[in-house]
Amino acid sequence: MKYETVIGLEVHAQLNTKSKIFCSCSTTFGAEPNANTCPICLGMPGVLPVFNKRVVEKAVEAAIATNCEVAEVSHWARKNYFYPDLPKGYQISQLEFPLALNGWLEIVVDGKPKKIRLNRIHMEEDAGKSIHGENFNHPNKSYVDLNRTGVPLIEIVSEPDISSSKEAKLYLEKLKSILEYLEVSDCNMEEGSLRADANISIRPVGQKELGAKVEIKNMNSFRYLQQAVDYEVERQAELLGEGGRVLMETRLFDPKKGITLPMRSKEEANDYRYFPCPDLVPLVVSGKWRDEIKSKLPELPDPKR
Ligand SMILES: [Zn+2]
Repeated sequence: MKYETVIGLEVHAQLNTKSKIFCSCSTTFGAEPNANTCPICLGMPGVLPVFNKRVVEKAVEAAIATNCEVAEVSHWARKNYFYPDLPKGYQISQLEFPLALNGWLEIVVDGKPKKIRLNRIHMEEDAGKSIHGENFNHPNKSYVDLNRTGVPLIEIVSEPDISSSKEAKLYLEKLKSILEYLEVSDCNMEEGSLRADANISIRPVGQKELGAKVEIKNMNSFRYLQQAVDYEVERQAELLGEGGRVLMETRLFDPKKGITLPMRSKEEANDYRYFPCPDLVPLVVSGKWRDEIKSKLPELPDPKR
């Protein structure tokens, strides 16, 4: 049986604003653990987020450069989950009414242009970081660094238009070059400023219906992305070839072994209980403001060619 591969990428990019998205703490990478924190980003009771205008300017720049329609009104939502690096117990994000919709990027595959559609771009705050004790000779202890909590992110969600690990790499390279060119993100993958989740499924050639989708989380290098996609496509084809079925699940890529491992199944999937964030008014980006941002954008590399 011949299979075709269907991939969608969700890319998180940290915006390089000086201060965080809802407070005035610094976003500088590499500070002493928990030095860049305040009651707002620590999620103390009774505090209120104050939105950083530079975040939306940078996010709108990215949206325009990726041919998205910028929504005049977008809404904030709370994404609830429990994790030690998320002191509030929820992340402020956008769900039903994101900042931007319906964009596209063009990649060149073996000399031929191909359009990859973008479903959406939304804004959200980053979570903190758990540091496991192995690195400090305390294998039984974990530490929490909240410097990253509240660093602004955009999440760029593609449609499942990507058909190979090579195209996935080309798409991520293209996106990275645009964000760097606009200077909206430093895209430092080693520091986690740019990370990708891949949704991967395969289906027999000619079949319309999509196969069961596996999500691989948090890849922070082009090589890992390619390796993870290749491994996953082969794993799924082998399973189907043996008459088995692919489980819908979330997996992690282990760079040391070059394989993906199960993280959680669909049954254990998080129910984020999204609801509108009561602390923030809807964000309005008027046509006038959008055009102002657009008029200041540098000319992108592509049209110049
Ligand atoms: Zn803060």
